[in-house]
Amino acid sequence: MEDLKVPLPPTFESLEDERLHRKQRLAAAFRLFSKFGFDEGVAGHITARDPELTDHFWVNPLAMHFGHIKVSDLLLVDGKGEVVEGNRHVNAAAFAIHSQVHAARPDIVSAAHAHSPYGKCWSSLGRLLDPITQDVCAFYGDHALFDDYTGVVLDLEEGKRIAHALGDCKAVILRNHGLLTVGETVDEAAFWFITMERSCQVQLMAEAAGTPVLIDKDNAELTAGQVGIHLAGWFSFQPLWDRITREQPDLLD
Ligand SMILES: [Zn+2]
Repeated sequence: MEDLKVPLPPTFESLEDERLHRKQRLAAAFRLFSKFGFDEGVAGHITARDPELTDHFWVNPLAMHFGHIKVSDLLLVDGKGEVVEGNRHVNAAAFAIHSQVHAARPDIVSAAHAHSPYGKCWSSLGRLLDPITQDVCAFYGDHALFDDYTGVVLDLEEGKRIAHALGDCKAVILRNHGLLTVGETVDEAAFWFITMERSCQVQLMAEAAGTPVLIDKDNAELTAGQVGIHLAGWFSFQPLWDRITREQPDLLD
């Protein structure tokens, strides 16, 4: 029998190649967030750490629709919030939150945050997600609650407090605000966001319909080790990448 090939995250010959790859994945993630209805006005940002200038990150320009973003539109922002590549503004909240998350978590490459409807709705309850489905077990023991809300995040101190609440987790629920996810790749951060938004939708529906049965601790932990690992997040994004680049190849421009 032939060896079946399972895709693995790529490795790179040069920093330029790695940078381009991260930017392509980032542009694709924005198109997918648009497709899934996660856009709301000028809210939301996904960032990718630069592979060379590791205190810099790539981010969407302020007030550009997720559904229009191309690789060439992405901004490079330095550690002080200055745009060093690109000729548009960066959202102040994007810098306040993401700069502190990237600083606190050198292990992650990407962070995703948007005002998606079910994530927002769930966040208003001030609760963690319960292990009620196989998919949500990706977050079992691996998401946190930022149990505070004090207006639009514009100062670095609040970004620091969000990063502190996130801790070592892959996601944090920002009460009365929405979701934030992180990953070792853009692919992973984007997929965790997409599946977490769905998990919020599912728990809201299940609790509206009745009392969901919880998966017991041992099986929730077992499942977390299956669906919640970095590679699972990366792997799950690949069909979405295939779909969006086939449908909207201009995102790569
Ligand atoms: Zn926000």
